[in-house]
Amino acid sequence: MSPLTQQWHQLKQQLAALAPPLQPVTLIAVSKTFPVADIRTVHQAGQRDFGENYVQEWQTKAEALADLDIVWHIIGPIQSNKSRAVAERAHWVHSIDRLKIADRLNAQRPPQQPPLNVCIEINIADEANKHGIAPGELLPLAQQVAALPRLRLRGLMCVAKADSSPRELQQQFGHMQQLLARLQAAGLAVDVLSMGMSADMTVAIACGATHVRVGSALFGQRSYAPPNNILHQKECP
Ligand SMILES: *Cc1c(COP(=O)(O)O)cnc(C)c1O
Repeated sequence: MSPLTQQWHQLKQQLAALAPPLQPVTLIAVSKTFPVADIRTVHQAGQRDFGENYVQEWQTKAEALADLDIVWHIIGPIQSNKSRAVAERAHWVHSIDRLKIADRLNAQRPPQQPPLNVCIEINIADEANKHGIAPGELLPLAQQVAALPRLRLRGLMCVAKADSSPRELQQQFGHMQQLLARLQAAGLAVDVLSMGMSADMTVAIACGATHVRVGSALFGQRSYAPPNNILHQKECP
């Protein structure tokens, strides 16, 4: 068994142990910057959901991996001139943060394909340099996106503030949980919380994450090292 395959099995076991009973957590393997050979290795082990940030990089990889039954999650910002490729080939977009891009994806989703699954990205720690909308803008955008027939609004996504303490992570992820509940109370059929990455997936799962997006803890370090000191925090307010 290759080290990567071993790492995948270990991560799956870790997630199974963290997930609440009867509520499996979907692992999205974030393969940005890693070669298609690594994606093939992890797919061979049994992984199906893969996430990519950069549409151009993803397109090249998706071409090279067209023979595999991969579920592709776009987790980065989408420029207007890249939306068609996403509408035609992706299964999920986690990074909706304005109506304009949702409208384009809706118009460009081929009629023979099922609706594109989408999440709205929340700038949960109100960071100036982060993508995503403010919580106060969520309800109107969610209602507009939910009305688009070729999209299926599934829930919310966030990237927690880097170097947050466990308590700060609990606040951010707990807030996401409240926002999802608010959409449900408004009558929207949403049930996805896409939150938690290599460094903070344990807290995210404790706070109700249904999808975690894990890159470096599976494939290895890219060019920076996320803090690793919060992997065992389990409480959520
Ligand atoms: C890179 C990235 C991830 C994965 O990050 P890791 O820390 O490597 O697990 C998850 N979500 C988004 C939006 C990313 O850009």
